[in-house]
Amino acid sequence: MMVARILAIILFLSMVAPLSGLEGNNSAGVIFQGFYWDVPEGWYGVLADAASDLSDIEGYSIDYIWFPPPSKGMSGSSSMGYDPYDYYDLGQYDQKGSVETRFGSFDDLKGAVYAYNSNGIGVICDVVLNHRGGGELEYNPDTGKYNYTDFRDVASGECTWSYDAFHPSSYDGYDSGTFGGFPDVCHANTTVMDDLAGWGNWLADMGFDGWRFDYVKGYYPWVAEEFKNSTGDPFSVAELWDRDVGLIEQWIYDSGEGISVFDFPLYYSMRDVCTITDGSADIRAFVNPYSSIVSNRPELSVTFVANHDTDEIVYDKMLAYGFILTYEGTPCIWWKDYFDYGLDTGGAKEPLQDGNGIDRLVWVRGALGGGAPEIEVLYKDGDLLAYQEVAHEGYIVVLNDNSKNWKGQYVETRFADSDLECVAWSSTVDNSKPMGKTTNSRGGADLWAPPRGYAVYAPVQ
Ligand code: CA
Repeated sequence: MMVARILAIILFLSMVAPLSGLEGNNSAGVIFQGFYWDVPEGWYGVLADAASDLSDIEGYSIDYIWFPPPSKGMSGSSSMGYDPYDYYDLGQYDQKGSVETRFGSFDDLKGAVYAYNSNGIGVICDVVLNHRGGGELEYNPDTGKYNYTDFRDVASGECTWSYDAFHPSSYDGYDSGTFGGFPDVCHANTTVMDDLAGWGNWLADMGFDGWRFDYVKGYYPWVAEEFKNSTGDPFSVAELWDRDVGLIEQWIYDSGEGISVFDFPLYYSMRDVCTITDGSADIRAFVNPYSSIVSNRPELSVTFVANHDTDEIVYDKMLAYGFILTYEGTPCIWWKDYFDYGLDTGGAKEPLQDGNGIDRLVWVRGALGGGAPEIEVLYKDGDLLAYQEVAHEGYIVVLNDNSKNWKGQYVETRFADSDLECVAWSSTVDNSKPMGKTTNSRGGADLWAPPRGYAVYAPVQ
């Protein structure tokens, strides 16, 4: 009881002086996905415990952590949150078999949000706007059919919708997509959008700092745009799960060019390069505007290597992290890669060295790239990609997907007559530290990367 009271006081104080952005922290310019599919029950406690570690990765902090959808789902404490029943039940009402959600109680959630906010880290809420689950069966006089669309008895007493809030309704018959057999929310019903905006503002008031829109294929782009605009216009990122660059860029345009998208085309390009271990995939795909969003719209691209749905890259995953953490866009690090698969400090061939792992790349991005690197491509062929950071202290990256050979290339960098050292590298074939180089008066040098790996060079400090 005392703990709860102290927590309430802390939360009250945090609302009086809301923390926004990254005051006091050295930003690395990265997002971190704070969960995976089927996390253990009580996950908010695990999340809270990780906050201080993630605020100091070699002196640099993540900018945002992405939380799972917080609302009580139709399957109660076993739900991962993607089947929202009562939007306002974040673990404080006894319904669907439990008070707590899979992740914990309402107080556990507030404590976890506070753990990040108090470390200057924003919390992104995963919002599921396409569908609801777990309503009672009711008769729809307009269609003459029975559907599970009656949500009038939710314990919170909020968003008490029934059949006309779902497709087909008197407002419209359908939208751009449905999900499984879940009742498909009709956003053309103005009560629905007003209710969702009210819910979003309530979430923002309790400390959430941004949105991750689940399954935007299921509704029109204006829905996400309006939700964002009516909740203070925070950072937002949409899940448009498709490899088609044209489709995603059209969605960016249709949603007002203010909502970021996960870079699924780049994800698939990287999956190919990592998975085809004989090196025959073409690494130029990473920077080709027909096979990645980040090469064309870096300001709206959230790049990622894995997420709760796509844990598919088994080999040479650090090749992909070596790219996203040093390139443009906003990279998103996945929980399991960092905490369970050992990529925080590893992912290379043993023995691991100080220059290996995600931690070192986060330092590169923060310390040498200002958390917002601007990149110029210097060289590319089917095996080799080289680029430099041009707007901050700077670095040069060489990526090599050849199956067994070190590869080098003469490139002219922005650093003339300089001693370069390798500050980060990784290889599952030969993890020796790449040698330092001295550039000529034109900034030129032969820079090498190990097979199935990368090397990051910077002037000797
Ligand atoms: Ca829909």
